Amino acid sequence: MLRVLQADITTLKVDAIVNAANESLLGGGGVDGAIHRAAGPGLLAECRKIGGCPTGEARITQGYNLPARRVIHTVGPVWHGGTRGEAELLAACYRNSLELALHHGLHRIAFPSISTGVYGYPKDAAARIAVATVSQMAGSSGFDEVIFCCFSAEDLAVYQQVLAGQRGPH
Ligand code: ADP
Repeated sequence: MLRVLQADITTLKVDAIVNAANESLLGGGGVDGAIHRAAGPGLLAECRKIGGCPTGEARITQGYNLPARRVIHTVGPVWHGGTRGEAELLAACYRNSLELALHHGLHRIAFPSISTGVYGYPKDAAARIAVATVSQMAGSSGFDEVIFCCFSAEDLAVYQQVLAGQRGPH
């Protein structure tokens, strides 16, 4: 049910991909820019109507020209050294995104590594939170597949290590 793969998230044909957006929801660099480019202008028009999203929360739109049906936009915390509630906010991103997906009957979801690009969250710590939060929620609810979509080989290695550690030394 939990899977990790190395891919460009805009190519995945799943029920929903998650976007690591910023509070304006008006697009940006990194995965946000890639998603807006691939989805086309309809996505930005819908995001404008939403009017922003606070850090830790999530909002949903259509997928437009993406192979994914929907986009869940969540706003990860900017890393300030770990003393400003970053861990709780990052966990909230994963939790709120999954809750929104369930609410909309979406059972195959792909996440990028939220906050670990421009927002500077340490990759290993972020992957631990992602895996722990998703495992907690996805275990008890109706997801067919939750994908951790890693853009780089380095990110893939980090997630593989965290997932292996979680499964224990068997
Ligand atoms: P943030 O502002 O939340 O840090 P970024 O987009 O800068 O967001 O980075 C988040 C993660 O998304 C990084 O691991 C980055 O390598 C990754 N990323 C960038 N482009 C893509 C893409 N097309 N598909 C999947 N992941 C991507």
